[in-house]
Amino acid sequence: MQDRFKGILLTRDENKVLSVNVAELGLDDLMEGDVVVEVEWTTVNYKDGLAITGKGPVVRRWPMIPGIDCAGTVVSSENPRFSPGDKVILNGFGVGEVHTGAYATYARLNGDWLIPMPEGMDGRSAMAIGTAGYTAMLSVMALERHSIDPTRGLVVVTGANGGVGTVAIAVLGKLGYEVIASTGRPEEGEFLKQLGASEVIHRDELSGPAKPLNKERWIGGIDAVGSHTLANVLSMTSYGGAVTACGLAQGMDLPGSVAPFILRGVSLLGIDSVMAPLALRQEAWGRLVNDLDISKLEALSTEIGFDGIIDAAHAIIDGKVRGRVVVNMKQ
Ligand code: NDP
Repeated sequence: MQDRFKGILLTRDENKVLSVNVAELGLDDLMEGDVVVEVEWTTVNYKDGLAITGKGPVVRRWPMIPGIDCAGTVVSSENPRFSPGDKVILNGFGVGEVHTGAYATYARLNGDWLIPMPEGMDGRSAMAIGTAGYTAMLSVMALERHSIDPTRGLVVVTGANGGVGTVAIAVLGKLGYEVIASTGRPEEGEFLKQLGASEVIHRDELSGPAKPLNKERWIGGIDAVGSHTLANVLSMTSYGGAVTACGLAQGMDLPGSVAPFILRGVSLLGIDSVMAPLALRQEAWGRLVNDLDISKLEALSTEIGFDGIIDAAHAIIDGKVRGRVVVNMKQ
């Protein structure tokens, strides 16, 4: 293990003005944990973008090393579940928010947060999936638990070109669902169809104020956008359908009506990836090995090195990223 290594450090002055720097760090700069992981691959998620640009109150402990997920190799462990050399995945549990995170050569973590790398997956593909893709899988699993299967009708995916959206479309397509992709980037329609969408609509159809009930268009939905978009998705969901909500790209509000719930028996299913229990995480990561076409991941991901993280964080907040940004920490 190196004594000194590089990482991104977020600090705030007494006026709460944010500074983002590449710093030389030591193990003492990392918070407590019983496992030290050498970070080999990480990603830039929307939440990382919020942390690095300061556009959202993601970081709640200062100074902070951002980065909410990573894949790497255990270099030291006092946790009985792990030994040096083990390949692991980490996402959530407040890492990069309240616990020093992934954008450094090493991360010191609680071993109970770590998932052994599933058979058939490697660090690069795990991070091409990342928290966004794993959240997409949690969303699909929630629809399945609600008996939304391909025979019951169409499923809409909002924020289609984003990290959650692209993986959701690819998984749903592979599982045989007919998918309507809603996007503000219709020029990417062909890409979305190759991923698994059968129809592409402009997000403007869903982004204005929603009627309490609208024409029934789909039986299920995976929403990463929130606000008016989620209200519209709910208002257009057929009798007995279900919609998952994981994101707030348009806004955190939900300016809708109870009509879909009380007149059509529609269900709204909340998805949280951060504190999801270990068993659910393991199931989701395990399912991604089979239910996501790994070759499609290549089309979904752009690889950058450590030096590209800060620019990518700004780009994701500006809505300029398509699919997933994978960070090769050794590059
Ligand atoms: P991305 O930035 O990759 O994707 C978000 C997508 O939403 C964009 O690509 C865009 O899709 C669409 N979008 C952006 N702005 C607007 C807008 N103003 N109105 C309508 N649509 C918009 O983010 P992720 O996919 O990684 O994450 C999506 C959301 O899910 C985020 O809010 C994130 O914080 C949340 N999230 C939540 C998790 C949880 O545990 N609950 C875990 C992971 C993510 P297009 O260009 O196709 O229109």
